[in-house]
Formats: sequence, C-alpha cells, structure tokens
Amino acid sequence: MKKHNYSAGPCILPQEVFEKSAQAVLNFNNSGLSILEISHRSKDFLAVMEEARALVLELLGLQGKGYQALFLQGGASMEFLRVPYNLLKDGGKAAYLDTGTWASGAIKEAKAFGETIVVASSKEEKYNHIPKQYEIPADADYFHCTSNNTIYGTQIKEFPETTIPVVCDMSSDIFSRQLDFSKFDLIYAGAQKNMGPAGVTLVVVKEAILGKTGRNIPNILNYQQHIDKESMYNTPAVFAVYTSLLTLQWLKRQGGIAAIEKINEAKAELLYTEIDRNSLFIGTAAKEDRSNMNATFLLKNESLAPAFDQLWKEAGISGLSGHRSVGGYRASMYNALPLESVQVLVDVMKEFEKTNA
Ligand SMILES: *Cc1c(COP(=O)(O)O)cnc(C)c1O
Repeated sequence: MKKHNYSAGPCILPQEVFEKSAQAVLNFNNSGLSILEISHRSKDFLAVMEEARALVLELLGLQGKGYQALFLQGGASMEFLRVPYNLLKDGGKAAYLDTGTWASGAIKEAKAFGETIVVASSKEEKYNHIPKQYEIPADADYFHCTSNNTIYGTQIKEFPETTIPVVCDMSSDIFSRQLDFSKFDLIYAGAQKNMGPAGVTLVVVKEAILGKTGRNIPNILNYQQHIDKESMYNTPAVFAVYTSLLTLQWLKRQGGIAAIEKINEAKAELLYTEIDRNSLFIGTAAKEDRSNMNATFLLKNESLAPAFDQLWKEAGISGLSGHRSVGGYRASMYNALPLESVQVLVDVMKEFEKTNA
C-alpha cells in the first residue's frame, strides 16, 4: 500500500509521475530505448530539456522577461557557492538574511568572495520566526534570502523591497504559491523538495545581472556558460530532468501554481488547526511565519513519543520525524501530498488525544 509520505526531501511526487517515469525507464517515447541509455544530445531528450526550461518560465510567469531556466547539478548547496562566484564583486559585499541552517550555509560560502552582511538573524531564538525589521544596504551586490526554512517550518510571507538584485533559495516551496517572481533576479531550488527527484537543481536567472564581477569564473561554475550551452554544458541529469518535466506537466494540468496554492493552503489550515486545538501538541514556529510546506510541532510530553510514533506508523504515515538537528515532528506537505493524507494524520492526532490526554 502506498504510504502517506511526509518526507521533507526527497519527497512525494504525483503517482502518475512515478508511473510515467517508470515506463520511460523501460521504453522511452516508444523508441525501444530506456531513458537511462539515450544520448542527452538525442532529439527526444533535447525536446525534454527545451520543454522543461520553457515550462518553468511559463509556470512562474517569467516568459519573455529576460530570464533563463537552467537544470544544473550539485544541489542547492552548489548554488550557495555559485551565486557569490557569479554575483559578488571582488572587494564587494553581499547582504544575507539568516533564517536557518540553509541560509547560514549560503553565508559561509559567500565569505570566500567578499564581505557578507547579515542584515538580520533569528538564530538566537532557534530560528523560530522570520526577522522583519532590517535594512538592506543599497550598495551591496545582492540580497540573499531563503523563502521557506525546511527544517524550522517558517516561511517568508512578504519579501522586502530593495533596489539591489534579489537572490532566493526556494528549494522547499518553489511552485507551491503565487508570488511576483519577477521581483527576484535569481531563484534556485534543489528539485527534490517540490519539483522532482534528487540530482538536479533548478536555477532561474535574469541574464542582465550576470557578467558584472570582472572575475574569471570557471566554466562549470559560470551561469553564462550554462545559458550559452542551453543547460547542456556537460551531460545533464537526464532522468531527473525528465521526471521534473513530468511533475511540471502535472502541475500545469492541475491549473498551475494558483490552483495548487489553494490546495496547499487547505492542507496547512487543516493540520495547523489540529496542532493548535489538540492539548497534546504545540507548534514550534511563530504563527504569522508558519510554513505551508513544512509544519513543525512537538509533543508537550516527550515521554508519549513512542506511543504516538507507533500510532502514525500503523496508519501508513511515513517521514514524520523532525530534522535530526531539531527533533520533534515535521509534516512536509509538498504539492503532491493529497489532502486525504493530511486528514489521516489529523485523525491519528485526535485519536491519540482521546487515549492519552
Ligand atoms: C534541502 C535544502 C537545501 C539543500 O539542498 P541540497 O540539494 O541537498 O544541496 C538548501 N536549501 C533549502 C531551503 C533546502 O530545503
């Protein structure tokens, strides 16, 4: 039986994506070849790459606005490095908002290239909220933020206004909610949270911000190289790109981001209402910053954990444990997780309260 998969990443994808990608492993496009054995330069795969790049821009509302979509490798962590390499001038400075482990990882990488200014941090409060009052220096080369903090269950609801380029790590909430994506100059996301399997990273970059550092950038790290080579500078992650395309096609058929956002809001509302109502549990993120993707919560009485864990596992739920650095529980409700799975979890929480309150 298919589990109710709350894993934070790699994570659940639509069932039809699993089925179609499995089919392509056996016989891709009726070619008599597996997707795993075809050339990335074959006509069939070039069409996949082209459609995937175009569909990303279409779904984000960025077509014809000077943006390029790239499917790269190295995970979001590679972009922590590639961003300052391409955007931070020698002797320049970059502004970062520190909202968690991933944000601070990005800050560490940028330090090798210039001055990093942390405009605000919620580290002292264990990253339980998003800092709101801060100034972004107008003379920095860019401002970097993390839209959704996968580990802590916080999400930026309103992005700051600034005149400098805005870079955003959207690994765990891209394609989950409507935003004016044209306010961002560079967006990156490891595919494995909401777009596809592990092995490929999406980078959406406004071409006009590139080429300004005067630095000699190694080709593999140079966004412009990847743009010029149409995201085929080196062999792309063929299967991961194809599976991402299937997921994007599925999203489009659902009605795109506007339609999935409504479902994501309904799922989050259902679970947070129960976390707040149930006497045994407590949410860990500040209410106004709660993530619609990753809901983090604790048992007020930790000694009940073995009994609760047994109950949700028996209900067919998987992947509910919190990140190893924070413990507790984390329900990741990415696009492909059905509302019914959230209802199953809520029912388990209610049942658990009846026998343990
Ligand atoms: C998972 C995650 C990362 C790290 O992604 P990798 O692909 O493993 O490098 C970075 N940022 C955010 C917000 C994440 O959720």
